[in-house]
Amino acid sequence: MDSDRDFTPEQLARGRALRRAQVPWVLGGRAAGLALSLLLGLTPAGAHLVGGAGRLFGGSWAAEVLAGATALVLLGQLLGLPFAARVRSVRSGYGLVTQGWGGWAVDLLRGLALTLALALPAALGLYALTGWSADRWWLPAAGAAALLTVALSFLFPLVVEPLFNRFSPMPDGELRSALVALAERDGVPIRDVLVADASRRTTALNAYVSGLGATRRVVAYDTLISTAEPREVELVVAHELGHVKHRDVAVGTVLGALGAAVAVGLLGLLMSLRPLLDAAGVPDAADPRSLPLLAACAAGLGALAGPVQSAASRRIEARADRHALELTGDPEQFIAMQRRLALTNIADVDPPRVLELLFASHPSTARRIAAARTWAAARP
Ligand SMILES: [Zn+2]
Repeated sequence: MDSDRDFTPEQLARGRALRRAQVPWVLGGRAAGLALSLLLGLTPAGAHLVGGAGRLFGGSWAAEVLAGATALVLLGQLLGLPFAARVRSVRSGYGLVTQGWGGWAVDLLRGLALTLALALPAALGLYALTGWSADRWWLPAAGAAALLTVALSFLFPLVVEPLFNRFSPMPDGELRSALVALAERDGVPIRDVLVADASRRTTALNAYVSGLGATRRVVAYDTLISTAEPREVELVVAHELGHVKHRDVAVGTVLGALGAAVAVGLLGLLMSLRPLLDAAGVPDAADPRSLPLLAACAAGLGALAGPVQSAASRRIEARADRHALELTGDPEQFIAMQRRLALTNIADVDPPRVLELLFASHPSTARRIAAARTWAAARP
């Protein structure tokens, strides 16, 4: 791949420099979180923490579950804070951040409230099930996890996205008409393209599809609409229409639901292993003080599943790119759009392969451009 053809050496160096400045903190934050989970789950420290937190609130079963889960979530957030702050200031140094520290802190608190709103009822439900049967709790829990995954995917645009952004229908005009015509030509029924007020946080460009059925929506950042050429916006939306056409959100949700059910089954197995329970200093999975062990096992499974999820995501993204090329028949504008995204977002257009393989949700810019040239060359 010859990125030199599409980018100047300065542009390539700038993306590489930002990647080198922020990746250690992004990955460091993740590694620290995983290490904390393992430390609390695989030693008696976590059980002591949950027991102590429970005693502060009367020491009942529910107090242990609720106070213990809250303590675990808060500790994880506190540990992640310096890493997240460092990533923010690195990105700020590159002009990618438009939000002050106050707004950043409010976002963090909103995220924390959302996490607790999900985690506390889930923990209560889970320990109600382990109390019912310390051996077979995972069976109904697996079903519940699958249902919850589908419900969250459906509710995400209604409940989660409005916490962080405002959305408005794209104003009437040439661009909106062009996008609606594009969707019609594609045979994809979309009610509208929504514009998110992303500029309150960032200068970066993005668009995405979320929701299921009645909540499905195509969203473009306002930064994209105000920065990119209309034809480039069309290419971005053509890519998003590829996601709609192939039902990527619905299929991803079903796979996610299956994955969640399998993960809970594996958790059921792990939480029955005597060496793990002994390491955590708890008699069985019915004891709420086993919560840190459960969290550690879940964090470990999550870390193992990450690369598989990113590989699946990269395939889906490459397919949406092909859809954009087929729908528009315009590889030149596709490449212009990729250049625009990479330059505005200060992307490393050709990152180290190992980072791409383990963590990237999208193929690199260099790969996406090369794929477009290959597609164009194969056309008569
Ligand atoms: Zn995509």
